[in-house]
Amino acid sequence: MSNKLNILMTYLKYKNKHFKDRDALESYQKKQIGKQLDFVTSHSKFYESYKGRPLSDYPLMDKKQMMANFDELNTVGTNREEAMKLAIDSERSRDFSEKLNHITVGLSSGTSDTRGIFLVSDKEKDMWAGYILSKVLYGSILDKYEVAFFMRANSNLYESVSSSNIHFVFYDIYQSVEDNIRKLIDQKPDIVVGQPSILLDLCRYAKDIRPKKVISIAEVLEDRDREVICKAFGTDVIHQVYQCTEGCLATTCEYGTIHLNEDIVYVEKEYLDDKRFIPVITDFTRTSQPIIRYRLNDILVERKEPCPCGSCFTALERIEGREDDVFVFDGRNDGKVTVFPDFMRRLVLFSGDVSDYRIVQTEQGDLEVYWNEDDAMKDKFMTELKKMAEDREFIIPRVSFHGYSFDRSKKLKRVESRRKR
Ligand SMILES: [Zn+2]
Repeated sequence: MSNKLNILMTYLKYKNKHFKDRDALESYQKKQIGKQLDFVTSHSKFYESYKGRPLSDYPLMDKKQMMANFDELNTVGTNREEAMKLAIDSERSRDFSEKLNHITVGLSSGTSDTRGIFLVSDKEKDMWAGYILSKVLYGSILDKYEVAFFMRANSNLYESVSSSNIHFVFYDIYQSVEDNIRKLIDQKPDIVVGQPSILLDLCRYAKDIRPKKVISIAEVLEDRDREVICKAFGTDVIHQVYQCTEGCLATTCEYGTIHLNEDIVYVEKEYLDDKRFIPVITDFTRTSQPIIRYRLNDILVERKEPCPCGSCFTALERIEGREDDVFVFDGRNDGKVTVFPDFMRRLVLFSGDVSDYRIVQTEQGDLEVYWNEDDAMKDKFMTELKKMAEDREFIIPRVSFHGYSFDRSKKLKRVESRRKR
């Protein structure tokens, strides 16, 4: 099948797929998992010995394990050294068109020291494109769309979406903002896709751009930032696509609620409290580099009330951040006290009307607050911190305040922990 036809077929398949209720979804998932396990046990050396066993018997996977078993795990005979070399060369030259036997090789952008390599076949790429389009296009796939896509790397994954009616322009975030804005105003995009820090940058020019839809990717979209972006672009909803190299995990519905994409992934939930969980995902559609019981490093917050859209896919309150970004304090009675990123975020926002900030826990456990606020705000922050330390019974760490600035070549992380575990 040609690549455009593939995209269209996938788009139609998912656009029109509706599940009557949760039971219908679960029985569909069961079938898909069965097919996927049959495939991997006959094509991946790593999974060969699991033939006939239920999913729950399969080992948990993570980036480290996946890289360590790269050659045995993938089903397309790609070798890790070769793939890594190609990915690094592309990144260096910023030319992402080269492939290994119809397989696109990419590097995951994670902030952790071990970077992952991901493999996507041409067919998977088309499916990915069709799937994303089924989730984000507000009209028909045959309408005309101008899409502006801001990315740190232009994996040729994204170019597969371009066709005669969907015109896709890639913006390299390493280019100067002025150049990008000029290009953007010329393009007049209907859809703008970018990470929240980029969308915040674009707010000043929102009136010149006026897209119909704004989509946030790659970083946590903070409530406060969402409000700013909504206001600037004159919209009620900022759509989010929670996409990682391991798959397209969640998208926003028309009510602005993020739902897990349970029509392509099965998600096991490793609960941290009554609503926070770490997702362990099994993707039904990826076969080149199977994603089976892959434990992500993210904390998701489940939404308890059903979403008015009526979808039976798990609804999320928000994507809270990385598991690594949990703050760890010394307890008053020995031991350690862990505090989720969201509580640290609120700590800052309770101090007053703060727009730009970052709060970082250092390797030693001290707190660094980056913002441009006065002494009264610092006092308020300290009062809030004392209250929290009292409640949670931890020793107040050393705190230092610094001016705020943001290095655009990095991911914007407002809440970050570097504490050694
Ligand atoms: Zn919904």
